[in-house]
Amino acid sequence: MSTIFSKIINKEIPADIVYESDTVLAFNDIRPQAPVHVLIIPKIEIPKVTDIKGSEHAALLGEMIDAANKIARDLSIADDGFRLVFNCGDNGGQEVYHLHLHLLAGRKMNWPPG
Ligand code: 5GP
Repeated sequence: MSTIFSKIINKEIPADIVYESDTVLAFNDIRPQAPVHVLIIPKIEIPKVTDIKGSEHAALLGEMIDAANKIARDLSIADDGFRLVFNCGDNGGQEVYHLHLHLLAGRKMNWPPG
């Protein structure tokens, strides 16, 4: 089932896009949890981590990590460090069922997470 992120991919609703390729889109989170909070998503609809198939999606996941590293370098946060998070399912705190990688930076992250 399509989510609000499909509308962002299709440019039906606006988003503050920071990176785009043929396969991946990244935009600022509407409710940032850190000074830098970017969502990196595949353009195809994969609802959640448990729908990932390594044999099928390995390259796509690699592109998402490449995008995260490029964004981190562009924003000059690569050296200080950052956190990448996939929330999966209800207990994981997932709200939007279109796979997304959170890139959080700009402050010291807590561990364990809440
Ligand atoms: P989740 O909890 O599913 O891992 O994260 C979903 C994220 O999407 C949340 O951090 C939320 O703030 C963000 N989000 C939800 N709707 C929108 C939207 O319409 N635009 C943007 N830019 N972010 C959104």
